[in-house]
Amino acid sequence: MGTATVVRVNDSWSARTRAILAGRPDAGDGNPANVPLVPASALGLEYSREVGTPTWAAFEEAVGTLEGGTATAYASGMATVTAVLDLLPAGATIAVPRYSYAGTRSVLDHAQQQGKLTVRRIDPTDTDAWIAAAGEVDVLWLESPANPTLDVTDLDAVLTAAASAERTPLTVVDNTFATPLGQQPLGMGADVVVHSVTKFIGGHSDLLLGVAVTARDDLSASLREARTRTGATPGALEAWLALRGLRTLGVRFAAASTTASLLAGRLAEHPAVVRVRYPAAGAMVSFDLADGDAAERLCANLTLIHNATSLGGVESTLERRAHLPGDSHVPAGLLRLSVGLEDPEDLWRDLAGALDG
Ligand SMILES: *Cc1c(COP(=O)(O)O)cnc(C)c1O
Repeated sequence: MGTATVVRVNDSWSARTRAILAGRPDAGDGNPANVPLVPASALGLEYSREVGTPTWAAFEEAVGTLEGGTATAYASGMATVTAVLDLLPAGATIAVPRYSYAGTRSVLDHAQQQGKLTVRRIDPTDTDAWIAAAGEVDVLWLESPANPTLDVTDLDAVLTAAASAERTPLTVVDNTFATPLGQQPLGMGADVVVHSVTKFIGGHSDLLLGVAVTARDDLSASLREARTRTGATPGALEAWLALRGLRTLGVRFAAASTTASLLAGRLAEHPAVVRVRYPAAGAMVSFDLADGDAAERLCANLTLIHNATSLGGVESTLERRAHLPGDSHVPAGLLRLSVGLEDPEDLWRDLAGALDG
């Protein structure tokens, strides 16, 4: 991009407005309306694995503005998680939620088996246990709302306690489910926020990407360095698509959340539904049927909602999570519904028909 100036984000703008303008070329000077897709391994004497590209930089600028820090993009959410764990010294003790994203659990189990980390699992909703752990461990790894149980951790209370602990732990929040528009953990005192951009930020089930954001210069430099060293770099097209996805996150997330809230209310009244897990806001609804067979039957009976993995796309997807080895500990009848942008009444007819059928 070189010469093109970038829109200066105004602090008075709401997050939704900043999501649309941050990282965008200024309208003057005959600039293009959007950041170009720049597929380049070298920029003169600089190597893009080290210095990034204008496309990555625009995406990082936009996400950083929303979360309140400096962002570094990676090849996927898991590449991001791995880069953050790479900052820890050998033998570090890390407190993590008992229920959280299966991929993160698997990386932590692997590190523990190799003797690199000691993992302590805590009930996500047990605030006192998290506060006690804050004074005892090297790292607090939080994920709220959690995948797939939608458990909510009191981030404010836990992060405040961590900041005042005698030996301050590093605090990391996986903010994938809330999105940068739902909550900004850096503002509550977290050191690092991570996202699977693959999900809501990308928003169209057409890419894998991740991002880490921090307001600490030392951590930002280390995170950048970890990317250079490991080569977990974003693809040019992925970064460009993710920025395009981010532009509509505000309207997508608002619409999907309204529908999710409506569906959660109706599911709670359906006799076949044992429990609804819906944390007041957001586009994810998990719910439990009596057992795994009932959940599998529901998946098979749907005609509109895709029985598919992943989440955060414009199309609604539903999955029984306990069928995965990494999530075999969650209730057998738990279904995770990612609410998309279809007509809410079409979605409800599909769900109700499958529940009754
Ligand atoms: C999907 C997901 C990840 C991993 O991201 P990928 O882009 O699939 O590598 C991490 N955390 C949460 C909460 C996720 O849902």
